[in-house]
Amino acid sequence: MNSHDNCIFCKIVAGQIPSRKVYEDDDMMAFHDIHPKAPVHFLLIPKSHVDSLAECGPAEGEVLARMMLKVPELARAAGCGNGFRTVINTGPDGGQEVYHLHVHVLGGPRNQWKVSLP
Ligand code: 5GP
Ligand code: ZN
Repeated sequence: MNSHDNCIFCKIVAGQIPSRKVYEDDDMMAFHDIHPKAPVHFLLIPKSHVDSLAECGPAEGEVLARMMLKVPELARAAGCGNGFRTVINTGPDGGQEVYHLHVHVLGGPRNQWKVSLP
């Protein structure tokens, strides 16, 4: 597993920074966003460090597929039976702040969200 010394999400994976865990298996981890933009807002990340979706190649294909298939399961379990939104910010113009690939999963009643639809 690649671990980048100054990556906060690698530190969360390693347990060096606390997080409110939603899910974990050998390849991925999900935890609540520290600044939630909706009643449900968690992040799903691969445990192995990759900077962003733009840096992914065939080696990441399997974990990306598993993560995407895990999203609806975790969203349902978090109470998002009425739907949810999946966001991957990529690069500076994509608004990415943390350079360890992560999938935002947002849900809960729309009128309580702090972000609007694109
Ligand atoms: P980005 O803009 O890179 O797509 O989103 C990064 C997200 O990570 C933001 O929503 C931010 O609130 C969240 N975040 C940043 N630092 C931490 C942290 O230390 N713990 C948790 N749980 N979330 C974080
Ligand atoms: Zn990392």
